[in-house]
Amino acid sequence: MNVVFLGPPGAGKGTQAELAAERHNLAHISTGDLFRRAIEEGSELGKSVKAVMDRGELVSDDVVVRMIRETLPKEGGFLLDGFPRTRTQAESLDQMLAEEGKELDRVINLEIQETTVTERLLGRKRTDDTEEVIGKRLEVYRRETEPLISYYQEKGALRPVNGSQTIEEVSQSIAAELGVEKK
Ligand code: AMP
Repeated sequence: MNVVFLGPPGAGKGTQAELAAERHNLAHISTGDLFRRAIEEGSELGKSVKAVMDRGELVSDDVVVRMIRETLPKEGGFLLDGFPRTRTQAESLDQMLAEEGKELDRVINLEIQETTVTERLLGRKRTDDTEEVIGKRLEVYRRETEPLISYYQEKGALRPVNGSQTIEEVSQSIAAELGVEKK
């Protein structure tokens, strides 16, 4: 089973993606985590993305798509968390999967109000979680990523989940959408 998690920053994607990946035995691929690790390691990739991330903007499609191409597992299912974030990335993913004879089984969309999201993000301690940068990330989300909801709706893969419930409730709603099978 191959899954994408969509939703605004602060919707709980990271937490829920981790729980679902574990439960369904999927490789959890978080582009944000991969970039943060690259920054910690001081690699060339890390150096090239740090400033963009700190401003709350998106890393270029080229760089992200290349990283995903290198990271997607050859065997077994995966759960993408934080990718795709633009239409170009979504189309690149479709192409990558088609090349391998694979497809996306589900796109979980975590729905949540912006006021809740801002409160949650201000409670975290990440360097890109200042009020100004949060505003920027939400603006980028609305402009670049939100249109992917209709992109996946048209493909029939979209599964909305109410992200404002408790962690446990959201987790159960996601489990209901993903089913119990382990692939
Ligand atoms: P996240 O942890 O998913 O909130 O990602 C943190 C930051 O990493 C984002 O604000 C972007 O700067 C960068 N990033 C993560 N995933 C992507 C992506 N798919 N496309 C572009 N930039 C990304």
